[in-house]
Amino acid sequence: MEMRIAKSTINVLYTCKVHKITLRRTFEQVKTYSMGNPYPRLVKVEYLENGKVLNTHNMLPSTICPTCKPSDIPHGMIPKPIKGRIVEHHACDSRCLNATGSNCDCACGGENHGKSHQVVYSVES
Ligand SMILES: [Zn+2]
Ligand SMILES: [Zn+2]
Ligand SMILES: [Zn+2]
Repeated sequence: MEMRIAKSTINVLYTCKVHKITLRRTFEQVKTYSMGNPYPRLVKVEYLENGKVLNTHNMLPSTICPTCKPSDIPHGMIPKPIKGRIVEHHACDSRCLNATGSNCDCACGGENHGKSHQVVYSVES
C-alpha cells in the first residue's frame, strides 16, 4: 500500500478559563495517508515538538495548566489551533501578539498570533 505524508506547522493556543491563562505551543503536524482507491485515507496524525514525536493518539497534545501545584489535581487547558487569515491592511501589532482568541485577521496571517504566550516544553524521554 502506497503511503503519503503531509507535513505542516501548526500553532495552538491553550486556555484555562479558571485562571485566565493562555499558552501557545507550536507543533509539526504529520499526516499519513494510504493512497487507496478512489480516495486517499487518513491513517494517522502525529505531532512533533522540538523534533520529538508526542504520543497523542491523533489528538492535539494536552497541556496542564501551569498554576497547578504538586498537591493540586492537574487540570487541562482547552486547545484551539490558530486560524489565520491574511488581511494586508491590518498591520500586525501587540493586539495580535497578546491575543487569546484563536482567530487572526491580520497582515501576519496568524504567524505572530498570541506569540507572547509561546512556551516550549522539553519532552522527557
Ligand atoms: Zn488553571
Ligand atoms: Zn499578526
Ligand atoms: Zn493575530
